Amino acid sequence: MGQLRVGIYPGTFDPITNGHVDIIGRATRLVDRLVIAVAANPDKGPMFNLQERVEMIQEQVALMRNGDGSHIEVRPFDKLLMHFVQDLGATLILRGLRAVSDFEYEFQMAGMNTRLDPNVETIFLMASERQQFIASRFVKEVARLGGDISHFVPPEVAQRTARKLAQQDRRFA
Ligand code: ADP
Repeated sequence: MGQLRVGIYPGTFDPITNGHVDIIGRATRLVDRLVIAVAANPDKGPMFNLQERVEMIQEQVALMRNGDGSHIEVRPFDKLLMHFVQDLGATLILRGLRAVSDFEYEFQMAGMNTRLDPNVETIFLMASERQQFIASRFVKEVARLGGDISHFVPPEVAQRTARKLAQQDRRFA
């Protein structure tokens, strides 16, 4: 029997969107075990803390488990991605590609990561046409300005975002 293929899908997931969910579904078909690696990324000034981001992904993964998502795990990490990949014995990094604008950053990161460990391959996946334009950054902007984000994120995430904004409003009131 061959070795189990372990893949990592790293990101900030602030918050998880329908685009991420789409990529997770595709990634599960490529690997035996998928680890969704949630970067602490405090420098990015996330709207949701690390635990909240992990919980929101776990909620969606639990819903996917009705299908074929039983080999998905969600893990926070706060170190060099390549070290985390090696700790887990993963051989694939999965990333999503949206527009041309993602390309340069992803190209550089994949190139650097290959130098750090040539045995780990980065694979790029595209979400379905309907989800391709979704970005967490814009979801947060639309929500902050009172727009409807229900087309872009799962319902549980939309509810949490509304609660988070209400909390912030109270703090600034
Ligand atoms: P990061 O800070 O690593 O960019 P993100 O949470 O923004 O974290 O994104 C994680 C990964 O998911 C990235 O590879 C990003 O390109 C991909 N991604 C995010 N949204 C989409 C989408 N709508 N379609 C395809 N890929 C996406």
